[in-house]
Order: sequence, then structure tokens, then C-alpha cells
Amino acid sequence: MERVGSNVSTVKPGDHVALSFSACGHCENCLSGHPSTCEMLNDLNFGGVMNDGTKRIHKNDVEFSTFFGQSSFGTYAVSNERNVVKVDKDVDLRLLGPLGCGKQAAEQC
Ligand SMILES: [Zn+2]
Repeated sequence: MERVGSNVSTVKPGDHVALSFSACGHCENCLSGHPSTCEMLNDLNFGGVMNDGTKRIHKNDVEFSTFFGQSSFGTYAVSNERNVVKVDKDVDLRLLGPLGCGKQAAEQC
């Protein structure tokens, strides 16, 4: 992790993290511990914007959409604190990367 926002408290620069899908954290399903059935799941993961409706990835004047709350195929990702999972620095990040999207999607099948 390179940088964190001013309100982020669970991770800090230098931490190793894996990224998961995005969930609102406020709907009934999220509050009951079931973020995978978040009422905003489709909008947050496939709508191309962050939880606050903005786009945070820019190049010059062009805005880029996020995907699955992370856009993990990019060199850098902008993600909500809620879908960032801090991991031990001894774990090979190359092994954890696929867990944030591919493995979770496969588990849904
Ligand atoms: Zn939710």
C-alpha cells in the first residue's frame, strides 16, 4: 500500500494488502455480516465509481472507471478501506492477488 486517505484507520503506507469486492457497509445485508449480498453490490462493483459516486483515477483530464471496487489489473488501484484486507508481510502477494476476484467469483458458482 502506497498511500491512504486521511480517514483510513485500519491500514497504513507500507502494509501489505489484498483487495476484495466493494460493499456499502450500511445496508441491512452489510450490517448483518453479509456484504456479498450488499444492496449496492452491482452499482459499487460494476458501476465504475467509488462508494461516494466519484471517480478517483485520472490521467490528464480523462477519468477512468473502477471495476469490482478495485481495478486490480492496473499498476495502482484506488479502493475503499472496507474492501482492503491487511495481510502478513511474510505471505507472497503473488499468491493472494487472485483471491480478491477470481477465487471469490469461482466460489459463487
Ligand atoms: Zn451494503
